[in-house]
Formats: sequence, structure tokens, C-alpha cells
Amino acid sequence: MNLDKLEEVLSSEPQYRIKQVKFDLFQRLISDWDQATTLPLSLREKLKKEFPLLLRAKTLISKDQKTVKALITFDDGLSVESVLMRHNGRNTVCVSSQVGCPLACLFCATGKMGFKRNLTSQEIIAQVLFFARYLKNFKPAGKVSNVVFMGMGEPLLNFEQVIGAIRILNDKNCFNLGARKISLSTSGIAPGIKKLADLELGINLAISLNAAEDKLRSKLMPINKKYPIKEVLKAVNFYIAKTNRKVMFEYLLISGVNDSLKQAEELSKIVRRNLYLVNLIRYNPTGKFKPSGRDQIEMFRELLEKKGVNVTQRFSFGQDIKAACGQLATQETPAGL
Ligand code: SAH
Ligand code: SF4
Repeated sequence: MNLDKLEEVLSSEPQYRIKQVKFDLFQRLISDWDQATTLPLSLREKLKKEFPLLLRAKTLISKDQKTVKALITFDDGLSVESVLMRHNGRNTVCVSSQVGCPLACLFCATGKMGFKRNLTSQEIIAQVLFFARYLKNFKPAGKVSNVVFMGMGEPLLNFEQVIGAIRILNDKNCFNLGARKISLSTSGIAPGIKKLADLELGINLAISLNAAEDKLRSKLMPINKKYPIKEVLKAVNFYIAKTNRKVMFEYLLISGVNDSLKQAEELSKIVRRNLYLVNLIRYNPTGKFKPSGRDQIEMFRELLEKKGVNVTQRFSFGQDIKAACGQLATQETPAGL
């Protein structure tokens, strides 16, 4: 699915066609051009050939039915995983921005598979479109209410295509999703955070922090050698000054690695600031480490609260289908390799 191609096919048509077609695609969510009955038959036939609507995907549904994971395969045979989470009246789609990830964080299954390539805006949008169609056919029918860039890959290393996708999500004639409903998580690519600040998109920003001092963070997240904590925080402060928006710091809790009370105290020193919010996440097993125990998490959290830090806790979904944070990975080999 390539929107530039769509504009090209429609270039000889009257101006209003593009709006009409976008409405059919993103709001009526047609999956076959025959459903676009306001278009002339000859145009439908042309679109069928030049702009096929089929999305190739396999789905897995969690036992509690609240999480759905889709393996979406693109034209070159490479695939990504995307996740739909249905809870608290929201339908949140977690999208991937790259096939694999070059940053190799020790705790992350995506990091382990290495980097294959960046996704295009259209490939990112295809993931949302897949779940939008899925929810439309649900009983009762639903809509995508939130999109988070927290799937496979580092979104700020695929900046232009990710921004392009955000603009399509935002576009009134396309998904018409407010910026406040879109979140992006980064491992801390400082120049990307500054570039994002300059665009003033109004989306939510999250930083994967996971350690409060450089030595441990560099071990867990090798990108920290390039952009150490101080650099990341400088970029975040620039972002806050520019946008006046809250920034979320994600902190995975891994047993015996980053969950001691001393480490909570170190963390409190760097995150006790206005508009900083800490989100504690229990590590989801990916083979390497053990998750922290419930009591340890509770003590860690209490210490942060006592020190005056704004803390929330994220509850993970979809562990039984390996759809939780950090568990996304694909093994598929592209055709012909
Ligand atoms: N590359 C970006 C976005 C994708 S990762 C980033 O790293 O921020 C999205 C989130 O999943 C990050 O907050 C990361 O810290 C978290 N994550 C990675 N592995 C995890 C695991 N095993 N358990 C729980 N969360 C994990
Ligand atoms: Fe990449 Fe994010 Fe996973 Fe690190 S946590 S390997 S940056 S996807």
C-alpha cells in the first residue's frame, strides 16, 4: 500500500476524488474497491490493479481475548509484529517502525533479532489499518482510539517515515486521530528528541531509561555509550521547554539488576522534576533475565513516591502470546533468501 502511488493514480481525476478515496480507505475502511460505490467503475478497476487493498496478516489472540497480535508481511517478504490492546474502553494499537532493531538492548527480544530495514510510512499505517478493519468487523464494532510507537524498532532512527505516518494518523481526511492519542517511545536518541521538539506535534513522548547511572545503562542499552543519560536528559529538557508537555520515563524492573532500593534512590535524584513521570514496568521474560518480585516492585515504587517522584505502573498484556513489551520478534525468512 503506497499513498504516493494512490495520488499518482488519481492525478488525472477531479480534485475531490482524493478526499473521497481517503474517506473510503481510512474511515469507511473498505477492504475491496468494489465497496467504493461512489467511484466510477472504470476507476475502481484501475485502482484494483494499481493499488491493491489486501493486507497479508496472521493473528494470534490472547486467552483473555484482550490482546491481539498480528504478523504483517510486506511485499519483500519481511514481516513485523503489531499488537492491539483492548482495555479500559480503549483500543490501542502498538506499531513497529523497523524490521528488527539495530540497538541490541540486552532485555529486548527485538534487539536480539538484529536490524533488517526501516519501514515506510505506508507500512506503518498498514498496521493501524489492519486493526481498524479488524475492530470494524468486531461485535460490537470498535475503533482504534490510540496508537503507540512501542513495537519493534527505534522510531527516532526512522524519523522521516515515522513523522509521515503520524501526519497520516492525524490528517482529518485520513484517520483523524488527535496528537494526544499518539505516543512515541525512544531509547534516547538525543538529536531525534530535539528534532521532534522542533516539530511541535503535540504527541506524547516516552524515554526508555531502565537505569539511573551510565555504567549499568550502557551495559543494558549499548546506545547509552553514544547518548549517555546526561545528553538524553538535556534533550528531554529542551523538549519540555519547547512543548510544555509531560515526558514519561519507562523503567523496566529486572530482578537483581536494576531494582534495588539504592538504585531507586539514584533514580529519584534524576527524575524528581516538573513534568517528569516515571512508569515502572515489570520485565517480561525474553530468556535473559528474571522479572522483579511483586514486593520488590512495591518497595521500589514506595521509595520513589516518598522522594516526591511522579510514578505510575504499567501492567503488561498478552504475555501468553508473546505480545507484551519487549517480546516482539519475527523469525520469518524473506522469500528467496
Ligand atoms: N525502541 C523504542 C521503542 C520500542 S520498545 C524504545 O526502546 O523505547 C518499547 C518499550 O518496551 C520500551 O520502553 C522498552 O524499555 C520496553 N521493553 C523492552 N524489552 C522489554 C521487556 N523484556 N519487558 C518489558 N518491557 C520491555
Ligand atoms: Fe530496540 Fe527499543 Fe528493543 Fe532497545 S528496547 S532493542 S531500542 S526496540
